[in-house]
Amino acid sequence: MKIVIASDHGGFEMKTVLAKALAEGFAVIDRGPSDKTACDYPDYADAVALDVASGAADFGVLVCRTGAGMSMAANRFQNIRAAICRTTDDATVTRQHNGANVVCIGADLVSVEYALEIVKTFVSTPVDESERHVRRRMKVERAQRLSDASGLLKDDPEVFEAIVAQTRQEDTEINLIASENTSSRACREAAGSVLMNKYAEGYPGKRWYSGCLPVDAVEELARRRACELFGAEHANVQPHCGSSANMAVYFAMLQPGDTIMSLSLDQGGHLSHGSAVNFSGKLYNIVPYTVDRTSEMLDYDAIERQAMETKPKILLTGASAYPRKIDFRRIREICDKVGCLMMVDMAHIAGLVAGGAHESPVPYADFVTTTTHKTLGGPRGGMVLCKEKYAKAIDSAVFPGMQGGPLENIIAAKAVCFKEWMGGEKKDYARQIVGNCAVLCATVKDRGYRIVSGGTDNHLFLVDVKSTKGITGKAAAAALDAAGIVVNKNTIPFDSESPFNTSGIRVGTASVTTRGMKEPEMIKIGTWIADVLDDVSNTAVQERVKREAKELAAKFPVP
Ligand SMILES: *Cc1c(COP(=O)(O)O)cnc(C)c1O
Repeated sequence: MKIVIASDHGGFEMKTVLAKALAEGFAVIDRGPSDKTACDYPDYADAVALDVASGAADFGVLVCRTGAGMSMAANRFQNIRAAICRTTDDATVTRQHNGANVVCIGADLVSVEYALEIVKTFVSTPVDESERHVRRRMKVERAQRLSDASGLLKDDPEVFEAIVAQTRQEDTEINLIASENTSSRACREAAGSVLMNKYAEGYPGKRWYSGCLPVDAVEELARRRACELFGAEHANVQPHCGSSANMAVYFAMLQPGDTIMSLSLDQGGHLSHGSAVNFSGKLYNIVPYTVDRTSEMLDYDAIERQAMETKPKILLTGASAYPRKIDFRRIREICDKVGCLMMVDMAHIAGLVAGGAHESPVPYADFVTTTTHKTLGGPRGGMVLCKEKYAKAIDSAVFPGMQGGPLENIIAAKAVCFKEWMGGEKKDYARQIVGNCAVLCATVKDRGYRIVSGGTDNHLFLVDVKSTKGITGKAAAAALDAAGIVVNKNTIPFDSESPFNTSGIRVGTASVTTRGMKEPEMIKIGTWIADVLDDVSNTAVQERVKREAKELAAKFPVP
């Protein structure tokens, strides 16, 4: 067991004696000071807090005249729970109940012999793991979701209010929006960091501004991790979003008027794949393909025939609302036959790819674009992966082609997100997203709802509410929203309704899986969805489900 100890000048004598005595039974790191010269207590509290927060030490001991200043300073750090202890009872209770990991002692308040006893009691008392204490400690951690932004309470209460509202919504509702997820605290820390302050036009080692060493390091880390995680030859982590990642590929490889063949928006494709109202549809000649009318799945033979006829420069696959696996090997064959570039937009399934729950497009495609905030669960942003031979073209398309300075804080959060996937522990998570989706989908289907393509292989499915209940996706989504279940209306292939009304809803399981929900919870949620959709005018059912959903959400806290 490792103990880190420090004091200010007021606690110096006691600290010196304690450090020596503790060294007889423990590994002790003494962070100073080394004499009684007047010094500033936060410097020493910070040093101890960093050692404990990083895991370099198991416990911290801080001594000043009252212990109060030290505890305040140490408690500013994540994962630090610093308690002032005046008695051995204090030490016992704060360990058991609060799981304190730093003990703060007032040198004016207790004798040095008793102080030693307090510290020994502190480090030898185990944390009480009974339900009520775990629950309360969890609430302390959860309060941090708000306290992270609580400076705004004074500086900008209106913005703080919006953050409170989002926090409450996440805490009390079931989020099934297939394109959303819940970011980790680590990602949010990086995204909100001072890296936001830096202009860094260019790329690591070749910037237009001075002072870029810190951001060079973080961007290089993000690029390297992206390549390692996805097995890519080159990564550009600067695109601000998924749409601009796609723009980068088009700008790098196409001239205006060139042909892109892509899945059309109303069939599950994305705006940036050539929608008429998007830059992609305005600049390029778009040849849309569809799913098969009967199976509602991609028909690779039909895609091949169409591509052979229309000779696109880029054949683009990937979707926002396609519930089935995509056969990238088959798409590669088609591209080789046609002699066109293969581009895959894996925005929705990137997390499944990273976790091995969907085949990776990277070995097959010339370009893979993605967002980092959907199943991947990182910050809102985009990325392009490509073969080395296209690296230069992609990099110049992003900067100076279409963007100025990169968002280095967001790039840092991307790096954090990639690292979270690299350990391999998230493989189970990716599998669980898909497993949860299968169960949720089956539950709704068993209640008589028509599922587009009959099921799902990934993190989302589409319910045809129009043919099942004669209602629009818009009405279905509104009723579910009133019941605390958040989905989105979505067109289904060959939809007879307008994109504003739609015949379907899209349901995804990334966010609920991040919260730790599993199959039993999916059965509950699926049953609620059917209960609400069976009669969208029944507000009593909506209220009942809202209450039950809130109870369930409370049991699965958002990270
Ligand atoms: C979400 C998505 C994008 C990009 O979205 P942005 O909002 O621009 O980040 C791109 N392609 C697909 C397939 C998507 O689903």
